[in-house]
Parts: sequence; structure tokens; C-alpha cells
Amino acid sequence: MKFTPLRCLLPVFVLLTSISQLPSAHLLRADDAPRWELLDPFQRTMTRAEFPSRLDRVFSPTGVFQKFLTYDGDSVLIFDDERHEQRLYQLQFATDARRVVKRTFHTLEELPALKNPPDQPLRGLRIALDPGHIGGEFARMEERSFKMNDGTAEQEAVQNLIVARLLAPQLEHAGATVLFTKNDLKPVTDASLEQCREPAEKYVRENVATRSDVRAMGELAREAFLLDAVRKRMELEFYRNAEIRARAALVNDRLRPDLTLCIHFNATGDGDKPAPDNRLLVMVHGGYTPGSVDTPQRKFELLWKLLENSHPTELAAADAISRAMAADLKLPPEPAKFDPNSAVVSDNPFVRARNLIANRLFHGPVVYLEPYYQNNPTTYARLLAGDYDGERVFDGQRRRSIFREYADAVARGVIEFYARHTVAR
Ligand SMILES: [Zn+2]
Repeated sequence: MKFTPLRCLLPVFVLLTSISQLPSAHLLRADDAPRWELLDPFQRTMTRAEFPSRLDRVFSPTGVFQKFLTYDGDSVLIFDDERHEQRLYQLQFATDARRVVKRTFHTLEELPALKNPPDQPLRGLRIALDPGHIGGEFARMEERSFKMNDGTAEQEAVQNLIVARLLAPQLEHAGATVLFTKNDLKPVTDASLEQCREPAEKYVRENVATRSDVRAMGELAREAFLLDAVRKRMELEFYRNAEIRARAALVNDRLRPDLTLCIHFNATGDGDKPAPDNRLLVMVHGGYTPGSVDTPQRKFELLWKLLENSHPTELAAADAISRAMAADLKLPPEPAKFDPNSAVVSDNPFVRARNLIANRLFHGPVVYLEPYYQNNPTTYARLLAGDYDGERVFDGQRRRSIFREYADAVARGVIEFYARHTVAR
């Protein structure tokens, strides 16, 4: 009898180690050396056709990453430089057999196996709620305390947390296990602001002190300017890097959700100018910009997100949730102007792909919600009104609490999305 290679007897290789066993190790800073072996479980999981197509369409539509690649038969070589001299990693493509990785989340293909009853479409699913920002004593530092004219200040962290708390019981009622990255106004990170001094000083030394306008300042003025710049950078290092990395470690090591919902309210960037209307923006991961893949660690992070293959599930979830929110909140999409920081990845005008620190570092599908503009006068009044039963009048219109409106729409979108895939028919 002719010898049959094992590969033909087992068309699918099941990898017994989970990809999440060493996740925090990849929460390195941009200039740290990545641990490339963490990508090894993804060898031979994606085909030669899928890899460039996912890059071109979602992750690197402007070609910023492709210039570091050389295709070589059934593999691709990743280099640190455009001249392809410093080789970082070689990824093998799946050929006649696709290796299967045990992921921490259910992919679209795996959802039907849940065979859920119609009244429990989320049974067996873990949903993480990530109410954005820290709030409380940190709200002014993170520039997420907002007031119009001489009105009362509202903190976005508070608004996001109210929505998360209203959303959780609805998802639990539909069978989900709901997990919070945070459920108060304290930071998740145990880092102190002072611990952020060293990276802040390095950043200011390399990027601010070298500027010609700064070098032209008088000695004392320059000293004061740089001290202030270090303080501002320390704060950014704290509330963005340290805080989001701590949340990512929590999501990746302990929560291991099927879906993470990042809950935010949007604002237009025109300072104190009131926004004339309200719109809806929902983000998935992708749309890398020039400069965003300039270190080995950044290249590693792009590859991790691409190869963990959360994109199809993430995009399908974002599509369903955004359509429910647009209909129930009656919000139009953002204008279809070209935005260099985001990419259009489907025909859904509400969904854009953007490379945010949270949706890059969190494992698994992440849907990032940015409805309304806080600096729209009606929205501002509705936010200040807090959560309430029934309806109240704003601008001559009877309105439900903005928080219930938001939470109910997201719940409907999430439940309808999963029901389509999990309910036994
Ligand atoms: Zn926000």
C-alpha cells in the first residue's frame, strides 16, 4: 500500500495550546523588542490569497506595511526596513491544509455550534464592556471634562459608565456573561504618574526640545516650556499608555471576551464651537497610517491583529450594532470626506477602520462606539439631565434619557447580531 502522508489523513491540524497563554508579553512599548515566537501559532492559518487581501482592504489600505514585505512561494518575509535587509519574521501560508488555532473568542463560523434557544441568543458568550476614560479626579488631566459656555462640566467617563451599567443587564438577560474592564471612576492601572516621568522626559528630549521654535526661546522661557511639556507627556503616558495597557492585560489575560464594546461619546474637534448636529461613528481595527508601523513592535502588533483573524467577526458585529444605533438614535453617518486616519472597509457608512491603542492591544473582536457630539447643545443638555424614567422635553421634543436610548440600541444590535448566528433553526 502506498504511504499516505499524515497531512492527508488529518486535513486540519488542531493546535492544542491556546494563543492566549502568553498574551501580556506582547503589551510592549513601541520601541521594545517584540517576541516574534508569539506569532508562531498562526503559522499556516491564512492562505496566500487571504493575507494580502486583508492587508490591502483593512489594515494597510495606503500600502504603509506592504513595503516591508517580500512574498516567497508559500510564505511572506517581514522586514524592518524598506530595503529588505533586516529580516524580522517569516510567515508560512496555509496551503492544502489550514492549521486551526484555538482562539479565545467564537468566530462567525463557530457561533452556530452554540445552538442557543431564541430567548437566550447570547448564551455561552462573554461580552466585555469598556467604558472609556478614567474620570473623577483624572477627567481634567485626560481632557475629558467638558462644558459649554459657563455651564456645568460633564465628564465623558461618567456618561460612558452610565451607558455600560444600563447595557449590562440587557445582555445578561439574553444569556451573556458580561464583564467590565472598569466599573468606577478609578484607573485600572496601578502605575503612578511619577512612574511615567522617564518615558515622558525621553519623548520631550527627542521630539520637543529639538524643535527650532523651542530652541529659539529665551533660556528661562524654554526651561519652563519643557517642564510643562514633560508634565503634559507624563499625563498622556499615564491615562493613555499605562491605563489602556492595563485594561488590555485584563481583557487578554482574564476576561477573554467574545466581543469587547468600547463605549464613548464623540465630540467635534473645533474646541468650544458648538456642533450643529449629531452623528454616529463606529470603529473597527485597521487603517494603519504612515509612521504607525515604523518599529518592529508596531509591525508585530499589526500582524497579531491580522492573524488572530478577529476582523470578519468584528466587522459583522460593528455592521449590525451600527445599523441598530443609526435607526434607533436617528443619527446620520459622519461626512464621507477622506480621512487619512481611517479607512472605509465596507459599504456601511457608519463603520470606519482605525488604529486606536485600545482596539490594537485588546485581543479578539472590538467594536468602538462614538455616537452623538457632546458639544451639540441639545446633547449637552441631555447629558447634564442625567438618567431618568419616561420622557423630558428638549428643544420642544419629548426625549428618553440619552443613556437609555444609547444602551437599548446597542443591546438590540448585539442581540440581533448574535441571534442570527447562534440560534438553533
Ligand atoms: Zn471618549
